[in-house]
Amino acid sequence: MEHTNVFELECCGICEERKKEGIHLYTMFICTECEYNMIHTEPREEKYNYYLRKLKNMNQPKLYS
Ligand SMILES: [Zn+2]
Repeated sequence: MEHTNVFELECCGICEERKKEGIHLYTMFICTECEYNMIHTEPREEKYNYYLRKLKNMNQPKLYS
């Protein structure tokens, strides 16, 4: 069985690119690259806040508009 079908590509919630491999965190798909980057980013780095913001957005239910 092959799983290289283009329809199986998911949009990464961090880099917003379509990737084949990654993890699901709650409702968000995070590609392996971003997952790796997140793990290896230290809190003092600017990127860290970027990831944090993305993750926070994900957790907020859109109840009130
Ligand atoms: Zn990504």
